[in-house]
Amino acid sequence: MRSIPVVLLVAVVFAPTVVARAEDRPFKVVVDPGHGGESMGALGAYGIYEKYVTLSIALRLGRLLESEQPRVATFFTRRDDVFVDLPSRPALANAVGADAFVSIHCNASPSPEPFGVETFYLGAGGTDADADQVADRENAAGAAPGEAVPETADDAAVAAILGDLRRTGNLVESAALAETVQRRLAKGFPETQSRDVRQARFAVLKRATMPAIVVEVGFLTHAEEGMNLLLATYQERIAAALRDAILEYARGRRW
Ligand SMILES: [Zn+2]
Repeated sequence: MRSIPVVLLVAVVFAPTVVARAEDRPFKVVVDPGHGGESMGALGAYGIYEKYVTLSIALRLGRLLESEQPRVATFFTRRDDVFVDLPSRPALANAVGADAFVSIHCNASPSPEPFGVETFYLGAGGTDADADQVADRENAAGAAPGEAVPETADDAAVAAILGDLRRTGNLVESAALAETVQRRLAKGFPETQSRDVRQARFAVLKRATMPAIVVEVGFLTHAEEGMNLLLATYQERIAAALRDAILEYARGRRW
């Protein structure tokens, strides 16, 4: 057996201790592709379900964020077509100490006319009927088949959670993250409509203890946008806009 060279030993013993500073920690983002497995999500104009589109965009975003390592660490709530219940998604984000939670969805409407992108963060129901409708549809579509929709009407619980989020500053930060994402998407997609940043009672956001948003990247039920959302080039553009938004948000907060 060869002995360890003395020079190497000395180098190890006297190596300066590197103290990790807070800003050296990676910005941890949890990417949450909406639905999966038995939770199909919205049915698009071309017979494709939302769960496939959200996963494809999320994986593209993950690949783009890979080149931002080590300053960005990316986690996924799912990377395959599997069912993940709504509470487990923010639970993962809480467990890894995430700095941001980004849930990716596609919008849907009974009317073929609406199109555009919109971004949500947690809010109480009852002030914006249209936002309530989006949240209620997503909550119902995210529940396990045959199971009760989790806590959609539980406004008292939402109010308590909002109080907590306000105290910790996470509500303001969720709004800032949502604004950044919406602005980047609006900039990246002049051909579509930039709808609003709004608050709604999304079950998937209720247990997140960090800045958390739901981004609705377009309407699957619109003839043109529904087609675009199936195209690799369009999905890649969405992923790039989301990447840019995450980096912009992280800058100054982590680096
Ligand atoms: Zn959805």
